[in-house]
Amino acid sequence: MKMNKRPLPLSTICSYESRVDPTPDYQRPPAWSRKQKQLLLDTILREYDIPKMYWRAVRRADGIEYEVVDGQQRIRTIWEFRKNVFPLAKDMDDVRGHKIAGMRYDDLPLDVRTIFDAYPADVVIVEDAMQSEQEDEVRDMFLRLQNGTILKAQEKRNAMTGSMRDFVKAIARHPFFEKCRFTNSRFTYDHLAAQTILIEMEGGPTSVRDADLNRLYEKNSEFETEGKVARKIKRVFDFLNRAFPEKTPELERYNVINLYCLVSVLIDGYVCEGLEDNIREWFLGFETERKANEDKDDDSKDVQLVEYRRLISQSTDSEESIAARLEFFERRFFDAVPNIEPKDPQRGFSHEQRLAIFRRDSGICQLKLRCDGVKVGWEHWHADHKLPHSKGGKSVVSNGQVACPDCNFAKGATTTVSAVA
Ligand SMILES: [Zn+2]
Repeated sequence: MKMNKRPLPLSTICSYESRVDPTPDYQRPPAWSRKQKQLLLDTILREYDIPKMYWRAVRRADGIEYEVVDGQQRIRTIWEFRKNVFPLAKDMDDVRGHKIAGMRYDDLPLDVRTIFDAYPADVVIVEDAMQSEQEDEVRDMFLRLQNGTILKAQEKRNAMTGSMRDFVKAIARHPFFEKCRFTNSRFTYDHLAAQTILIEMEGGPTSVRDADLNRLYEKNSEFETEGKVARKIKRVFDFLNRAFPEKTPELERYNVINLYCLVSVLIDGYVCEGLEDNIREWFLGFETERKANEDKDDDSKDVQLVEYRRLISQSTDSEESIAARLEFFERRFFDAVPNIEPKDPQRGFSHEQRLAIFRRDSGICQLKLRCDGVKVGWEHWHADHKLPHSKGGKSVVSNGQVACPDCNFAKGATTTVSAVA
């Protein structure tokens, strides 16, 4: 079996319509909703990649015909849109400055019609499969494609029904994703949107592999798309969108998950007004430092960054990896921006703040009232307010320090005595 991959402009694919049979008997029936069709058009007009199509060349009496082995919904959608059968989505964003929401092909400005006509779709043409004994070979290939090699897991989930599917799609269209380095080819935005939604629903880091995401769709087919969790998720993406006003090549897939988790923690527990610039500046600085660390000799490398590199290179969808990456981000961010205030300052230091204080002070008692700077374990230390809370000292990392139990007790006694005196 010979395969021949070639990019065909959509105008050519449309002119082939009479020679292409989209429904050979091993194909599945047409199933795309209006929304799915509009999403494909959105992808095409933004010039993102769409999955390859597979056609099988069949010799007929009057010439070569093609059967669509994979990509039936896509090719039907392309033909239908070219023939003005359906319009673009009503809420579609502008393309190259043109307002095109709700338009049909014939209404589009020439500029945008040209994007469609010239868009190169990858078509793999299966040659030499023209005799009946090769039917099975083609059918097998089709089943392999269906089982994941080509139709990836997210594409399958997109075909599920229910409000979770719709909510994931809505989040995947959030303008923040346009700021990232990657495109939405193979539904990367949908996949990441589903992963962050699952993390939010679980209240923090959790395993976000394909099986987990499938369960998310199945169990939440009646998810409240305007409910509390949904609103929180939108708030996190709105925050990230404000933090990154421009396209930012450092925003890779794993970084988006980390940043989502960090901002989610911040929104729940801290005063977040104006933190957007802090997040962006810290994140870009961190990425620069991390890349510089890669170029150093092994001996002079920052071991924490080496460990971080391990976390982003393997099993990135595991709970362990996501939790460790979040802890890493929290520690670094609270250390770099030590004046972040908790929403409820009465409660004292939060877990994230305690972590940043403990690591910054290397677990060494800073009070030295009864010790010479003893190193304490995580289980046995106090986060001391340098300026006591009772005197207006804030519960911020810059006002916190590590104290051993003895010194903490001694300081408490001094404060009490002076209060009495
Ligand atoms: Zn001490």
